[in-house]
Order: sequence, then C-alpha cells, then structure tokens
Amino acid sequence: MGIWKRTGIWSARSWRPYADALSRIKSRQREIESWSGERIRRYSLELRYLSRSDAAADVSMTEAYALVCEAARRAIGMEPYDVQIAAALALGAGKLTEMQTGEGKTLAAALAVYWRALSGRGVHVATFNDYLARRDAERLGPLYRYLGLSVGCVQEGMGAAERRLAYAADVTYLTAKEGGFDYLRDGLCLTKGSLVQRPYHFIVVDEADSILIDEARTPLVLAGEADAPQRDGARLAAVVGKLAAGIDYETDGGRRNVYLTDQGAMKAEALLGCGNLYAAGNELLLGELRDALHARALLRRDVDYIVRAGRVELIDPLTGRIAERRRWPDGLQNAVEVKEGLQPQRSGEILASITLRHWVGLYPRLCGMTATASSSTDEFAEAYGLQVAVIPARRPAARTDYPLVVYATKAAKLAALTKEIAALHAAGRPVLIGTSSVAESNGLAAALAASGVSCNVLNAGNEEREAAVIGQAGAVGAVTVSTNMAGRGVDIRLGAGDEEQAAAAARLGGLAVIGAGLHESMRIDNQLRGRAGRQGDPGSSVFYVSLEDELFARYSSSGAAAAGSWRQGLDGKLEGAGIRRRIEHLQRVADGQNREIRQTLNRYADMLEQQRHIVADRRRGLLEGRIAPAPLVLRDPDGYADLCARYGAMAVKRAETEYALLALDRCWADHLEYASVVREGIHFESTGVRDPLDVYERLLLAAFADFFDKAEDRAVRALLAVDRTKPDIGPEPAAFNMPSATWTYLINDRLLPHRHSFW
Ligand code: ADP
Ligand code: MG
Repeated sequence: MGIWKRTGIWSARSWRPYADALSRIKSRQREIESWSGERIRRYSLELRYLSRSDAAADVSMTEAYALVCEAARRAIGMEPYDVQIAAALALGAGKLTEMQTGEGKTLAAALAVYWRALSGRGVHVATFNDYLARRDAERLGPLYRYLGLSVGCVQEGMGAAERRLAYAADVTYLTAKEGGFDYLRDGLCLTKGSLVQRPYHFIVVDEADSILIDEARTPLVLAGEADAPQRDGARLAAVVGKLAAGIDYETDGGRRNVYLTDQGAMKAEALLGCGNLYAAGNELLLGELRDALHARALLRRDVDYIVRAGRVELIDPLTGRIAERRRWPDGLQNAVEVKEGLQPQRSGEILASITLRHWVGLYPRLCGMTATASSSTDEFAEAYGLQVAVIPARRPAARTDYPLVVYATKAAKLAALTKEIAALHAAGRPVLIGTSSVAESNGLAAALAASGVSCNVLNAGNEEREAAVIGQAGAVGAVTVSTNMAGRGVDIRLGAGDEEQAAAAARLGGLAVIGAGLHESMRIDNQLRGRAGRQGDPGSSVFYVSLEDELFARYSSSGAAAAGSWRQGLDGKLEGAGIRRRIEHLQRVADGQNREIRQTLNRYADMLEQQRHIVADRRRGLLEGRIAPAPLVLRDPDGYADLCARYGAMAVKRAETEYALLALDRCWADHLEYASVVREGIHFESTGVRDPLDVYERLLLAAFADFFDKAEDRAVRALLAVDRTKPDIGPEPAAFNMPSATWTYLINDRLLPHRHSFW
C-alpha cells in the first residue's frame, strides 16, 4: 500500500476508507487474472443483466473495478496503477477528484464509468473539446467492448440520427456544449420519436474546474431566426463620444463597471433632450446609453474582441482565443458594432437557454476530475455540493517551482523572457511558454525569431493539430508558445515518446514551463505549472510578470506607478520578496472578485432555472403522454365537435397535445424575454434602495404565477382558430410565432450587470 504511506498532499483522513477497497480490488483482480476472455465477458454481461433487471441490485464496486482492471490490461495493454484505482474509487463515490496532469485520469474514469454503465441507463463523460471526446472514446472503446458494453461519441456537426445512436450507447463521450445543446433541442421536440437523448443518469466531467467554474455561467442559447428590434445606436454612440472619462463617467478598478457621474448624467440629458434620464419612461434610452458607454469605456478592440470580416468576435478571457459563436447580450453587442462602424448583426429571439452549471445539475449523479481542484474546494462545495478528493501522484514530484520574476515594464519583461528562453534552448531543454492571448503569443514568437530561436506557436488552430503540436512540446530542443488552455488534456511526454530522447531531455532538466504573465486565477497558473514534471519527471516552472501587465491595470490602484518603491536592478528587474507578496495579494483579490461575480450571476440564473425546470417537467409529461393537455371539449364543446367533424376525434386528440407543447414553448420564450428586460431594467431602479436580486425574483415570480393558464389559453385559441380549409389539423409553428429554424450560440455573460453595477 505504498502510496498511502508517502507523506504528501492528500488528507490521510479522507483516504483511509479507500485503502481497504483498493486492496480488495487488487486481490479480486488476481483471481480474475486466470479467467479466459470469454469468461470475463460472460461475467460482465451477467452483472449487466442483473443490474438492468433489478434496479435495487447494486453490483459491488469491488467486482466491477477488478473486472475493468483485468480487462484494461488485456484489451488496451494498460493496467491501472494504484493511484488510478484510488481516483476511480473517489469518482465512484461522487467526488471531485484532483489528480495531477499525466497521471492517467482518462483510464481512471473508465472504472467508475463501467460500474455505473452496468445499469444500462447511459453514462456520459464530458470532455474538454470534441477532439478529446473522439480520442477518449477511441482509446477506451476496446476496453468497454471487451466487457460487452457499447461506446459512442458526439461531435459537432453530427445529425440527429447519429446523435441518437451515440446517446443510446452504454457510454457516451461528449463535450458539455454538445450535450447541453442537444438537451435544449430535445426540449423543443414535438414528438417523442425525435428526441435524441435518454434521461440522464451519471456524468463524469473531465477538466472539471474549467467546466464547473470557469465556463459554468456560460449560457447555451437556442435562438430562432428573427430580427432584433433596431436601436438607434449611432445617436447614443455620438452622445457617449462627448462624455469625458473621469469627469462625466468613471470606471472601477476592475474595469468591470462604468458609472455615470451626476455631471455626466446632466450632460447626457442635455444632449439627448430627454429630461430626467432616470425617470420612468426613459428606461430603454438609459439602457442603450449604458450599453454605448460600456462599449466605449470598458471594451477594447484586440483585447476583449477583434473585428474580422465585418463582424465583432469576442476573445475568451480565459484562453485568449476567439470564442466562436459567442456574443454579448444584444444591446451591448450592437453598441460595440456601432462603435466599430459596423452594420449591427441580426440576432435571434431566445427560445431556450441553460447555463452549463444547470445543465450539469440535471444529472442525478455527478463527479469530476481535474489537476487543479483543491484551490477551489469551497466553490465546488457551494455550487455543486461536491467534495474534493486529492489523489497523490504515483511518483514523488520532482518539479522545481521558481519564485516569481518581476520587471518594471513590459519591454524589460519581454527582453528577459527572450534571453531566458534562448539560453534554455541553447542547452537543448524543451521549453513551453504559456501566454494569455494570441497577440501575446505572436509578439513573443517574433521576439524569439529575432534572437534566432524558432518556435511552434499554438493559436486558434484546430484542436487536433493543436494536440499534435503540444504532444511534441517535450522533445529535446522544442520551444512551444501556447495560450493558457490550448492543448489541455493532451499529454506532454519528455522526448515526445522516444525513450532515448526522453532520457536526454530528463538529463537536461526536463520540460521548462514559463508563464509569460500571471492569470487572474491562480488555479489557471497551476494548470500551466502542472505541464512540467509529469509522472515524477524532472521539470521546472517560473512566471514572469511586469508591473504593466493587465493584472495591475485592473486591480492595482497605483499600478505601474508603484515601480519606484521597489528595489530595481539595471535591467529593470524588481527584487525582493515584498513585491512578490504584493503581487500574490493582487491575484487573490482578483480571484475573490471573480468568485463574487460568479456567485451573484448564479443567483440570477437560479431563479429562472427553477421556473425552466417546472416548465420542462410539464412539457416532458405532455410529450410522453403522462400528462393530458387541457381537454378542448370542456373549454368549448361546440368548437370541439366542429373540429372532430372536420378532422376526426383521433387527430384532434393528437393536435391537443401538439398545440399545448407549442404554446408552452411560445410562452417560455416570452417569459425569457421578460426576464431579460427585467434584469436589465433593475439597474435603472433608484440606486441601492432595494436589493436588485430581490426585485428580480419578485417580478419573475409574479410573471410566472399564471404561466400555465396563459399557455393553455393560447393552445386552445390556436386550436379553435385552425383554418378548416387546411387538409390536416397539425399545428404550424408560425401560428405561435415560433421560427421554422433555430441556431445555437454561447453567451459570455461576464458583462451582465451584477449587484454592484447599477448606476
Ligand atoms: P491525464 O488526463 O491525467 O492528464 P491521461 O489520461 O491523458 O492523463 O494519461 C496520460 C498518459 O498516461 C496517456 O498516454 C496514457 O496512455 C498513459 N497511461 C495512463 N494510465 C496508464 C497505465 N495504467 N499504464 C500505462 N500507461 C498509462
Ligand atoms: Mg486528461
């Protein structure tokens, strides 16, 4: 039981229960070792049969895990290490499992996945991107099939039939995004036969911190094709153009909010000729003004967004990459488009939406794995009720983490970085540099090229190519520049898989990871650090910052001006532990603020999600025939008789359900629209008197009170209004204003108003 004895990072108390289970699994595996393949398979099918036919029959974890261990050895040539079995036990117990990069989380998950999949109710594994879903399904496919289970994977661009097939498998690999959109589309189906997903059962979330924390508040949106109401963006942009920063409006330190001063409000009122901006009746105008000001004062081209082919495209603050199909809320999006002199883009009416956090919450059983969980223990517990289990590394870590290197200016930092990289490269050591944006990557690559170092740059390329490049980052002499999250989930082996090369790279000191700046979240920095020192390899990590970095601009009131107060070397390097402590403090401040924003946004989203859930439940009941629609015969006996005479009672009965479904969808889209108006409007309420969240909840509750009555009325009216010259009674979506086509996108609601932002 070697792994338990080593002193280290895991808590012995939380681990003791797993030690016994581990030894039971190992001894059971030794018994199974002598079995024929045929016998293992038959036994697995027996367990499957047992657990399918009797829901109460709980196949023991020991049995299931021992089978997978043996099958993995035979089918894919990998026998799970003790630490992997321990991780699998934690996953099976529904924990958020922290395991270092390269330790083998993919295989560890398979043990828990198999165990849960025996019930036949479908287990989902949410991976970081499509490429990894495909890769993991392919790698583990032989293992699951050896045990008689089927595997599927969902990919962007798949049609409904392919998706249905993938979801019908015992185990399905997919991204949270695909899974969530399929869920939303299923929520608009008019017949049971067109659903692609089965009811949820168990999900393992890989790279869980990314999905459960960083991406959690990203709403997936299903929209209909429609034109947005045209706003008079140009006029507002012109007014805002006349306001002066610091006098008419102020931004807060985090550059998150912009406030109109009294003077600014007066100036705007004069320019707009609208009387009191905050008076009733000016809500829309105030909203537009706020968007225009936000676009001008807070959003920067090439930092927050780029303009490409006449469109504004958002830059993901986490990855520094272009976020495909992501947009700001309509008003803000249009304001940015106006600011850039572009034609405002069409946007659709929102038909359905769910945040990734709530989508994950739909699974009765949830667990996750990542290399960086322990720094967010509280947040996992609070938002998901997940406990973190830390699995020790298989071999003791041999990575050296050097203290932060600080420079006064960006230029000095770049010069030092280049010099350091060139020196490491001259020695042949593989180097991986993490940056926060594509622009920064390109700048660094250019500086490196100028000093004769050629490097691989990973930027918004496709996932597969990215994986191939990052896979080579451990080769002797390789220099790789990559944005923060690029290539997450892909293993960096020293020597890129070649043993002799690996030994050479190890002698040189292993992979050198260099962060070109600190991220707002220490967790993200730790992800990068973890790239080095895989499975006990040697390696090192170091971060370079300058006082001109984004972190200071955002969170330090004194910013670069503070440089003078620190001891400075000739090359602009700032010495001493004091400055490092100060920077670490700033990072904690940033982390804390971001967390608070997430909590507030969560609270806004929770209210709507509760209502969505109620509607979705009822809709599902109608679709599956468990709930009967309001009988027309009671509402309007004559109309009912008339319809029956024309189309037959059977057809009318079917139509009752279909009309009821469409009416629910229509009413829900209206409710969503109302909610967004309210949410924006709350910030026009007189400042600070009432808690905006309270107001929001009250209004939403009131609007929801007669939701089902309204939907029923709507369905009945539409049914009675059927044009009797039509050959069949089936509903036309147009009768409900439902669009004939839908499209999907992600919203980054980082910029939605939060508790402190009203002005
Ligand atoms: P993680 O997701 O924890 O970063 P992966 O699941 O990608 O790690 O696995 C890292 C590498 O280790 C992969 O190349 C995988 O094939 C290998 N690996 C995992 N488990 C084992 C094992 N038990 N025996 C041998 N190789 C393994
Ligand atoms: Mg992984």
